[in-house]
Amino acid sequence: TSQVTSSRANAPLLPKVKNIIAVASGKGGVGKSTTASNLAVALSLTGAKVGLIDADIFGPSIPIMFNVEAEQPAIRQENGKNVIIPIEQYGVKLMSIGFLTPADAAVVWRGPMASSALKQFIGDVDWGDLDYLLIDLPPGTSDIHLTMVQTVPVTGVVIVTTPQKVALGDATKGLTMFRQPQINVPILGVVENMAYFTPEELPNNKYYLFGKEGGKRLAEKFNVPLLGEIPIVQSIRESGDSGFPAVLKSGVTQDAFSALAESVAR
Ligand code: ADP
Repeated sequence: TSQVTSSRANAPLLPKVKNIIAVASGKGGVGKSTTASNLAVALSLTGAKVGLIDADIFGPSIPIMFNVEAEQPAIRQENGKNVIIPIEQYGVKLMSIGFLTPADAAVVWRGPMASSALKQFIGDVDWGDLDYLLIDLPPGTSDIHLTMVQTVPVTGVVIVTTPQKVALGDATKGLTMFRQPQINVPILGVVENMAYFTPEELPNNKYYLFGKEGGKRLAEKFNVPLLGEIPIVQSIRESGDSGFPAVLKSGVTQDAFSALAESVAR
């Protein structure tokens, strides 16, 4: 539409941000926020300057996953405008609606309000120089997706899915949406999360609980790279709940998320 074209033609909002990468999924619960958090920290461990916007306005989980639930961002005045200082944790600058609403409050917003929150997170936050700004999108398709592409030039999107049919069907819709002309965001690739399970006492066995290689087939179908296969690991769930991303502890999960960061940076 002309609206998209005109906003894209304007001066970029974040000239000091080199790459804006969206993390999306077709449905909830597939590990999109887990992937976004660990990818952000993994990129920062490589020495990159990283920010992460929690655009999952109706179910923000970034504050929990980074153990900064009680934090409230400071605000400073600049040329009569409010500038929000992002919360920094594990080397990543963070902004989430969760910082601005009480922890247990349900956000009952209309689409336009959620969209203006995202615009604020992009335009009114002091992101400074960044190599990567990650945007953890809400699951599915929404106004937020459209707002994002109308507000900033998105470098590309990472699609997170689990391997079972119900998840792949929704991921397919997501991939198709990003290729539609009014969205038109390059797809960096697919991450297959919960790809398999390996019990500690049987380290050479892989159990494909949700089916085998569903993410790989999806990537092939859309002719995009399979960026990573993340196993089901109890410590990934535990570290999400305790707010200490799994990639910070050495082991298989660190290797998996570091490899993912490498393929995204490529
Ligand atoms: P989404 O953002 O897609 O809704 P989350 O990232 O919030 O999903 O993940 C949903 C739940 O699954 C969380 O409790 C998270 O810790 C857990 N989880 C995600 N990925 C894995 C994994 N690879 N192994 C174990 N638990 C996982």
